[in-house]
Amino acid sequence: MTVRTIEHLIAGGTAGGPSSGGGRSGDVFDPNSGEIQARVTLGTQADLDRAVAAAHKAQPGWAATNPQRRARVMFEFKRLVEANMDELARLLSSEHGKVIADSKGDIQRGLEVIEFCCGIPHILKGEYTQGAGPGIDVYSMRQPLGIGAGITPFNFPAMIPLWMSGVAIATGNAFILKPSERDPSVPVRLGELFLEAGLPEGIFQVVHGDKEMVDAILDHPAISAVSFVGSSDIAHYVYRRGVEAGKRVQAMGGAKNHGIVMPDADLDQVVADLSGAAFGSAGERCMALPVVVPVGEKTAIALREKLIPAIAALRVGVSTDNDAHYGPVVNAAHRSRIENWIQTGVDEGAELVVDGRGFELQGHEKGFFIGPSLFDHVTTEMSAYKEEIFGPVLQIVRAKDFEEAVRLPSEHQYGNGVAIFTRNGHAAREFAARVNVGMVGINVPIPVPVAYHTFGGWKRSAFGDTNQHGMEGVKFWTKVKTITQRWPDGSALPAMAEDGGPARNNDAFVIPTMG
Ligand code: NAD
Repeated sequence: MTVRTIEHLIAGGTAGGPSSGGGRSGDVFDPNSGEIQARVTLGTQADLDRAVAAAHKAQPGWAATNPQRRARVMFEFKRLVEANMDELARLLSSEHGKVIADSKGDIQRGLEVIEFCCGIPHILKGEYTQGAGPGIDVYSMRQPLGIGAGITPFNFPAMIPLWMSGVAIATGNAFILKPSERDPSVPVRLGELFLEAGLPEGIFQVVHGDKEMVDAILDHPAISAVSFVGSSDIAHYVYRRGVEAGKRVQAMGGAKNHGIVMPDADLDQVVADLSGAAFGSAGERCMALPVVVPVGEKTAIALREKLIPAIAALRVGVSTDNDAHYGPVVNAAHRSRIENWIQTGVDEGAELVVDGRGFELQGHEKGFFIGPSLFDHVTTEMSAYKEEIFGPVLQIVRAKDFEEAVRLPSEHQYGNGVAIFTRNGHAAREFAARVNVGMVGINVPIPVPVAYHTFGGWKRSAFGDTNQHGMEGVKFWTKVKTITQRWPDGSALPAMAEDGGPARNNDAFVIPTMG
């Protein structure tokens, strides 16, 4: 069987250049069947150089295009993505494995950043102070950085590239995306739709690759900024190497989000929320809720009782099964990794209440499926608690009181998201103020902020100072220039009579300074 090749999108075209890939490629699977469905070209420094040259050529003109016209490209792009939603969602599911409804959500959450970017003329208005001193005004303007790059993970192949590229492009930069080599097709389609929407060639480009391409990006002197999302060790590496090369870097990492269940919570609602938040998308979400913390013994017993049948009722199916709760994980290696973590949890003494290992979907025995798992009596010393599993595995960590429940997520190495379920406004308010985590949900299991707010965790969940999208994104992708201006009174100049020009010291030119 011949498999298609997924090429870079450079200078408006997807054909590989003479040096494209240097001969290396990566396998792209269909996680539903377990078969290789495509090969992605793994790029080299030479491919990046071609993309940078195209970006360099196009960016000054794009930056000089007025923001309203740039916004019109965003409006048209949004229309095109909506018109192609079904095709994009199918393509996304076929490489990632998430169910179609989740793929549409992935695209939709990215489009919301594009909607935010449609307002870029308003957003880019600078600050102005009239009369900062006698006759002196101060104003600021935000200018693009030039060429920026994004390096993205496999789990949101539409949303995360759009978080970065939407804001980078709307603010006048050229943007080079290095998507995950595990599901690279949707990013290329997004690039094609940007071109169709009227974006000039070279402003949004896609280069595929692995560590070699990432290192080439980090070291390239013409790239001013790098936005990364992925696992924490790599995020830290990207942050250090990029900063050392003099770049602006934001690097989002892994997560282990906790859901605190207070004794007064509506347990039926909590269980319904956990079914989605812990197991949806096979747990491959950085805002998933893989740890649940019931407060008090009674809450723990009642919650566990309700969770077991709810987990048994979850339907694992192929991505195109409309009734499936979740689909396969991204590849066989990731499934083995999840299964190894389950074994580690058992070895460390946690109680495995529901074991999802060894699950086979009839008719799809080679697909990368794994059933849902539930652990109870997980403790903070266990490595299976400390580390991210990134699969359909829920861990119960029992807390004796509110103080312990605040301490658990606060002391964890990751600090992406956290949720509290309660009917007590005071408890929720205290929790939100005190917890050492970047994004908090109150009776909201997955508190991903809307596009006009910003996304970002704390501790080992993010390196760098600025969040993704919203005004933080605008700050990341622009540099601020502040102008202090003084216009002396023109009437003080000598008369200009000799050359016939206007005399400027007459009464008509006396302009009193107001500020
Ligand atoms: P990953 O770290 O394996 O890959 C992310 C990117 O880094 C990919 O583009 C990949 O090609 C590149 N990469 C991989 N190995 C590299 C290396 N050795 N050197 C340089 N670059 C390398 O992550 P993933 O498995 O694709 O995605 C899942 C991870 O991403 C999870 O840890 C998840 O929590 C995290 N994530 C975080 C957020 C967030 O906003 N905090 C959002 C989504 C996903």
